[in-house]
Amino acid sequence: MRFNAKARLDASRTQDVGGSGGGTGGGGFPIPIGKAGGGIGGLIVAVIIYLVVSNLGGGDAGGALSDSAFADSSVGLSGQAFDYATCKTGEDANNSDECALVAVENSLTDYWKNQAQVADVFQPERAIRVFHGSVSTGGCGNATTDVGPFYCSADQTIYLDTAFYDTIFKQLGGTATPFVRAYVIAHEYGHHIQDLLGTMSKVKTQQGKKSDSVRLELQADCYAGMWAHDAETTPDAEGNALIEDVTADDIAQGITAAKEVGDDYIQQRSGGAVNPDQWTHGSSAERQHWFATGMQANDDISACDTFSARSLD
Ligand SMILES: [Zn+2]
Repeated sequence: MRFNAKARLDASRTQDVGGSGGGTGGGGFPIPIGKAGGGIGGLIVAVIIYLVVSNLGGGDAGGALSDSAFADSSVGLSGQAFDYATCKTGEDANNSDECALVAVENSLTDYWKNQAQVADVFQPERAIRVFHGSVSTGGCGNATTDVGPFYCSADQTIYLDTAFYDTIFKQLGGTATPFVRAYVIAHEYGHHIQDLLGTMSKVKTQQGKKSDSVRLELQADCYAGMWAHDAETTPDAEGNALIEDVTADDIAQGITAAKEVGDDYIQQRSGGAVNPDQWTHGSSAERQHWFATGMQANDDISACDTFSARSLD
């Protein structure tokens, strides 16, 4: 994947908010998971949840997640704040992962604002906030790198610690190629689209093979696929495509990444048994299936109706 070197970037929504740099520790962190049947205002939807969900126990779906399979990964890097305003052109995006994040965000915004079934309600996400170590959200509590990138509907913001790619994602065997990074952001942006469309209110069941949570996550994968398919032809404000050269190799990397964030795969990698009752995001096969479904959706968002689908794989 390459970016049109002459394209102009809009970095106004992408910020580096620093972070405590204090490391992740092994303690609990108060992430409010939307309670079954309750409001979803504070629902955090991480692209990947490595948490040992069984620790929730007792059906206390509203409780804080108290442990992580990767809690001792040392993510305590006190990253230096990056000034995203320095990202001005596609050429900058070709030369820096940070500016590539801006470019991908711009492409996602350009795609969804013109998507026929979304255009009427579209507004961009409020921000992408890049943090280091830990972060306080505007209504979804505090989070650390461990939870992976996530979308907070309370402040319509995508949160991302880029150290995630070098630590947790790597532990899963993943390689954070530029397209894989784009897929992760496209998935989170998919949650923003769900937020705009009111889909999050459909989520009543938080885990299990056919839970609403899994359906929500697979739909976000499907939306990511819709964008991936059209990324090369989505015009920017000046009428030129910002992204060029999305190769078959890129797509294959995206599909591989979808495998590496499957619940069954993560359960196996973390040494546990595969237990579908604890799934929140869907299996590897399901995530690959819905990413591919989005790519074949021909711009029709109804192809991504995971909530009506009887079979998810
Ligand atoms: Zn997600």
